[in-house]
Amino acid sequence: MKCRRCKAQAQVALPSHHTGFCAPCFETYFLRQVERGIHEHRQFTREDSVLLAVSGGKDSLGLLLALKELGFKVTALHIDLAIPVSSESARSTVEAYCAAHGVELRVIETARDGLAIPDVKARVKRPICSVCGKIKRHWFNRYAYEQGFDVLATGHNLDDEVARLFANTLRWDQAYLAGQGPVNEASGRFVRKVKPLCRLTEYETAVWCFLKGIEHVLAPCPYSGGASFTGHKRLLADLEERSPGMKMQFYEHFLRSGRPAFKAQAQDAPPLNACTGCGYPTSQDVCGVCRIRERLEA
Ligand code: SF4
Ligand code: ZN
Repeated sequence: MKCRRCKAQAQVALPSHHTGFCAPCFETYFLRQVERGIHEHRQFTREDSVLLAVSGGKDSLGLLLALKELGFKVTALHIDLAIPVSSESARSTVEAYCAAHGVELRVIETARDGLAIPDVKARVKRPICSVCGKIKRHWFNRYAYEQGFDVLATGHNLDDEVARLFANTLRWDQAYLAGQGPVNEASGRFVRKVKPLCRLTEYETAVWCFLKGIEHVLAPCPYSGGASFTGHKRLLADLEERSPGMKMQFYEHFLRSGRPAFKAQAQDAPPLNACTGCGYPTSQDVCGVCRIRERLEA
């Protein structure tokens, strides 16, 4: 196969686009797809200040580099969860990477807020990954809001989005379906949230990271008992192999036809309250994160 752009020998095959690229042209393709996702969904502009959640994994570091190469104003935010070995490994990776690429890095330590994840795991009898995710999302939003960033970006790619859409559809979870997409508008103390990798698959992101030399291997989190959505991703990969381009079609049709209907229904939902502990939006009196903190302090 020849490279679609320069006609040299292709090195990266992309069946969903019925095409392939040589390595330098793939990098151009990748950056254009990031830029297209940002513009198409009006995520942000070069004037906006972007806070990017960076875990230390390849995807978020790959996105950080892409945003920097595209000339966006990006600051990295890392959350140190105080998990033995893995949090130190992730934090030192992010610190070294940001220093090497001249990116400003902010770090939040959840232990300073009384929420070290090992303590949470010992005291809260719920799946730790769902609690940990709730704490991370709370702090991503809260930090972006308090520091006045225009948008909060995350490294979710097309596969993440499609797997989540599939799971939400299987449950017909209307509230989640109404809120899913590459952009969530700001509302009250919720900042604008965006997903610049929404047009790129896990494979394409991995190729970008490989070509850019982003090959960090982090110490795995000792609490990860197998990522959620793995089964759905396998199923969707099988469908994609039979019908190349299916994932993108499923996602785009949802954004065009499904999401507006779910959003219209969601307008009838009761408004959120301000948490009596932290002031951030919640459907109850006290938000989930403040409830966890209260339980640990009891
Ligand atoms: Fe948190 Fe679970 Fe990820 Fe560990 S694997 S960092 S507990 S979400
Ligand atoms: Zn709260």
